[in-house]
Amino acid sequence: MAKPLNLILVGAPGSGKGTQAQRLLEQHGLPQISTGDMLRQAQREGTALGLEAKGYMNAGQLVPDALMVNLIRERLAQPDAQKGFVLDGFPRTVAQAEALDGMLRTTGTELSAVVVMDVPDEAIVERITGRRSCKACSAVFHVRFSPPKQAGVCDRCGASALYQREDDTEDKVRVRLKAFADQTSQVIPYYQRQGLVTRLNGLGTPEDVYAAIVKAVGAGAKA
Ligand code: ADP
Ligand code: ZN
Repeated sequence: MAKPLNLILVGAPGSGKGTQAQRLLEQHGLPQISTGDMLRQAQREGTALGLEAKGYMNAGQLVPDALMVNLIRERLAQPDAQKGFVLDGFPRTVAQAEALDGMLRTTGTELSAVVVMDVPDEAIVERITGRRSCKACSAVFHVRFSPPKQAGVCDRCGASALYQREDDTEDKVRVRLKAFADQTSQVIPYYQRQGLVTRLNGLGTPEDVYAAIVKAVGAGAKA
């Protein structure tokens, strides 16, 4: 049996991690583990985690590591994650990366690759301020670059549920970019020391970027 593909996507907010994770799910059946989506879901359900995370998220700040590590620990223990996974939005700090390594060690799970998607800040701001997300299925659109066929309606699930995330405004994006530069970018050298990092240009079309990811993870990928 082919080795499970266990991938981490790292990139600034709006670098396209979610779009690519979605494709990897559709094409390879790899569960997309998006901590941002999980936290937004927790908020909608009004769980304790959702309530605690809300203030940080709406301010564009990172949610404390302890909460995130527990969330991921539970998620990775689910049956669907045993045959491979794509982490989108985790780890965002070196402490999270270390905790993840500890979890993976106890289950004998190996990371296949850490894919870093590089996109310049100004392109990020343009992408994020025009982003519209589906409340029902988390699909993403852009008012100019990839508009839905009908304004406000999700092409993927049909719900009239497109909205602008509270943290997708220009001032919040700047805060999130700072969190990326100050904290998340540190996970790149962390994984470089393990020889796991592939960097790619995240500015191409979603198809170009997807092709680059498949090429980078190459041999390990199921056709
Ligand atoms: P984006 O990648 O566009 O920034 P996400 O949906 O991944 O958006 O994350 C939105 C917010 O959720 C983050 O700004 C942060 O507040 C919180 N969050 C998500 N994942 C993590 C994490 N691993 N650690 C801390 N906070 C997180
Ligand atoms: Zn939808």
